[in-house]
Amino acid sequence: MPDSAMANELHKVLDSVSAVEPSELIRCSLCQHPVSAAQFRIRINGDYQHRFSNPSQQVFDVVCLQMAPGVAIRGEATSEHTWFQGFTWQFGHCEQCGEHLGWYYQGSSTAPSTTTPSFFALISARLKEAR
Ligand SMILES: [Zn+2]
Repeated sequence: MPDSAMANELHKVLDSVSAVEPSELIRCSLCQHPVSAAQFRIRINGDYQHRFSNPSQQVFDVVCLQMAPGVAIRGEATSEHTWFQGFTWQFGHCEQCGEHLGWYYQGSSTAPSTTTPSFFALISARLKEAR
């Protein structure tokens, strides 16, 4: 499937969530664009949420999501300073306003086959979750 077709499919998934259960949507805190939904939260290394610091000592609380159709993936995949062993990362930006919302992780070929092949880790403080 071409990337654009895949993106369309993912948006349909998000649209169906918003039609059935709008309160489940997770939005960009800056522009309110729906980027994912609560039902896509997944445990990575045993937890839905993680706290990490980057090499510049910035601390991030991130939430792991199986998919985030409203997040645009940017940049080259790299394993440099990765927070999840065996996974490469790319930047994830709000597809509407361009705000940096987190990262997209993809399991590398050396990762054990039982691990989740890909997921998003989005910064809690930059998301608006309806409750
Ligand atoms: Zn946004």
